[in-house]
Amino acid sequence: MANDFNDNNDNIDNMNKTGSTENTKETKDKDDYEAVCYICRRPESKVGKMIRIPNNICICSDCMQKTFDTINHGSPYMEMMGFPPNMTNLNNLQNEIPKSQKLKKKKPAEDKTEEEAVLNIKNIPSPHIIKGQLDEYVVGQEHAKKVISVAVYNHYKRVVTNTMDDIEIEKSNMLMIGPTGSGKTFLVKTLARLLNVPLAITDATSLTEAGYIGDDVESVVSKLLAAAGNDVEKAERGIIFIDEIDKIAKKKNTNNRDVSGESVQQGMLKLLEGSEIEVPVGASSKNAMVPMTTVNTRNILFICGGAFPDLEGIIKIRLNKQSSIGFSADLKDKFDKDPNILQKVTVEDLREFGMIPEFIGRLPIIYALEGLTRDMLVKVLKEPKNAILKQYQKLLLLDEVSLEFDDGALEAIAEKALEKKTGARALRAIIEEFMLDIMYEIPKDENIGKVIITRDYIEKKGVPLLEMRGTAQKAFTPMLEQKN
Ligand code: ADP
Repeated sequence: MANDFNDNNDNIDNMNKTGSTENTKETKDKDDYEAVCYICRRPESKVGKMIRIPNNICICSDCMQKTFDTINHGSPYMEMMGFPPNMTNLNNLQNEIPKSQKLKKKKPAEDKTEEEAVLNIKNIPSPHIIKGQLDEYVVGQEHAKKVISVAVYNHYKRVVTNTMDDIEIEKSNMLMIGPTGSGKTFLVKTLARLLNVPLAITDATSLTEAGYIGDDVESVVSKLLAAAGNDVEKAERGIIFIDEIDKIAKKKNTNNRDVSGESVQQGMLKLLEGSEIEVPVGASSKNAMVPMTTVNTRNILFICGGAFPDLEGIIKIRLNKQSSIGFSADLKDKFDKDPNILQKVTVEDLREFGMIPEFIGRLPIIYALEGLTRDMLVKVLKEPKNAILKQYQKLLLLDEVSLEFDDGALEAIAEKALEKKTGARALRAIIEEFMLDIMYEIPKDENIGKVIITRDYIEKKGVPLLEMRGTAQKAFTPMLEQKN
């Protein structure tokens, strides 16, 4: 029988040599990914050389031996032991192992080629250069960008140096507090893209204590592994962003077991600090049919973010208490009008909010983002490298029509967005609403060379100004006039 397998292997090899591009790709894939045993799901690096049978099925020698033993003894317990019922007829095993369940082999050190990154983590540039890059995409949030640049600089310096004699540099995990739509996720996404490290974004609301319905905390690491193309080494330098972290605050006044609050915080402690986590490859839950691998979270940068509603109230109460004692007593409502009260957050405030001390202790860098003001929203519209307006301008330019927004229009859009109280998130929805008509009407008339959007148009009191090709004449289009 063993000879049969070898023959089959030869056949497969010959087929590959015949040279269709698909086969070449397959061979390349085979080189890049480790084979996983079809039965016990352990990778080749753990179980040794595997026996390959047609249809890309690999079986480790242990499982093959067990199978033959079972067949020889005609055991009735075969299915109970987890072997598929059609095991005796190996040709029935048609299903290929899904690609997402293969493990990427570690590359040997010498032929490691660093992919292109704006900021190279092997030789991490100084914080002001990191901030300079972030400035091109993220408007405002000066303090947050400064803190994040220094933290990332220190983190990757620590990763590259690996050991620092007796002085172990602490991990720079961060806690980012800021209202919705202020750019928390955007900041992290931009950072990961500039550094070219894998990024996993998860929502803390879906996490529960292991064993309960929901994802257990370790699932965040398997998400990162998936983002790194199942390359463990790459994942170990990645970033995990856990959003809505305020939703796992300790529940107050409850007698029930807090499986989605305090227990999740407890469960995350070892992840944040750095430990070896066994994660399923290509799946979010561990079960018998999924290969497992070990990821060390020691060098993974964890960034937690949340809006922390009511935290402002807690800070105000603390500040008022402090300032109303003694001779330096202040006016009671002094802090009520402070728009950036979140910047004054302390560890005690977060504890009062419901985060457990051990958890906050593992996020040593705490900072707050500002809520976006009208002027900042106007900048978000036009300044970043991939600003929404630039995207529309590019789209219309493909039709050789130039698009312009006058200042009044931009302010009107920002004012509308402020009313929705969802920060910069509202901008796209507002623009999309009125750009629909423009994108529909403009291609109808080839003579239109330029469109100018005005405040009146945004406020539905007027129509956009149009400039015809070849003339500098400005006119209103009847079609758009009818619509408004
Ligand atoms: P949240 O703080 O709720 O995570 P996001 O980061 O998802 O908010 O922001 C939503 C969108 O708003 C982003 O995709 C981005 O385009 C835009 N945005 C938010 N804040 C900024 C900012 N400071 N500069 C540029 N764009 C921003």
